[in-house]
Amino acid sequence: MIKHLGLKAYGKINLGLDVLRKRDDGYHEVRMIMQTVGLYDRIDIIYRDEPGIEVETNLYYLPNNENNLVYKAADLLLKEFQIPHGVHIKLKKFIPVAAGMAGGSSDAAAVLFGVNKMFGLGLTMEGLMKRGVRIGADVPYCVMRGTALAEGIGEVLTPLPPMPQCQVLIAKPGISVSTKFVYDNLHANDLRPEQHPDIDGMIEAIKNRDVQLLASRFGNVLETVTIKEYPVIEKIKDVMKEYGAAGAMMSGSGPTVFGLFTSPRAAQEAHEVLRYGQYQHLAKQVYLTNFYNNKA
Ligand code: ATP
Repeated sequence: MIKHLGLKAYGKINLGLDVLRKRDDGYHEVRMIMQTVGLYDRIDIIYRDEPGIEVETNLYYLPNNENNLVYKAADLLLKEFQIPHGVHIKLKKFIPVAAGMAGGSSDAAAVLFGVNKMFGLGLTMEGLMKRGVRIGADVPYCVMRGTALAEGIGEVLTPLPPMPQCQVLIAKPGISVSTKFVYDNLHANDLRPEQHPDIDGMIEAIKNRDVQLLASRFGNVLETVTIKEYPVIEKIKDVMKEYGAAGAMMSGSGPTVFGLFTSPRAAQEAHEVLRYGQYQHLAKQVYLTNFYNNKA
């Protein structure tokens, strides 16, 4: 019996994001290119002989009850398999919160993986993905990880070949963006054809392992809505490009911006200037990381 598991829950960026339409049930149909990055939350799952789920986090403003996605993930499996024991979950956040990096979904995916392992439930990756979608549309992707095309509401996944290694600079301005606000203001069914990003072109660039071509085709249909509200996002993109990024874009509904760098030195310089230098006022959290493609 495993009594303690230490896990890493990796964040994601969107290399491309299109919204095809708003369905009658209110959900949006999307086409997104997902990429796991090396920035992660730490999760410890500790076995409890008695039933119940306890959650402890390092951020005072995150829920430590059933509203935390790690609680929901553990609860789902413990209930379904009628496990007479419980877990204590310690969550240490590093992925920016409410930032378009699927931090909560990734935490949930890690807990599904961990509880399955701890209690020997025998679920396959597909089994975990199927259950994950009940917690959130991005959870199945976070179980799978790597480079992938996500369609449907985000849960229909097609793996893509891994990209050549790149430096990924992540900068989150000190503002919070509600995903609902962004989708509500997109008016997805009124978009003109030229407003949709070229997702197929980006997939082609990924298959050719061509970072420059990929970056030249970057597109996130949500950018216009969020940037109109928060122009600082555009400023951060400009700084990253000025310092040599092959491309820079907002991730998800924002406000996180990422830049892809093929030169580690240029990435270092951009990191310095945004974190400690002339442009430090633009972003509250700045991290230099890379693509994470290891399935282990
Ligand atoms: P996405 O990229 O899927 O839009 P996000 O980055 O916008 O995700 P998260 O950081 O995953 O958003 O979470 C947003 C909200 O969910 C937070 O405001 C928080 O109150 C709630 N939440 C619940 N559980 C968690 C968790 N484990 N980590 C972060 N937020 C959580």
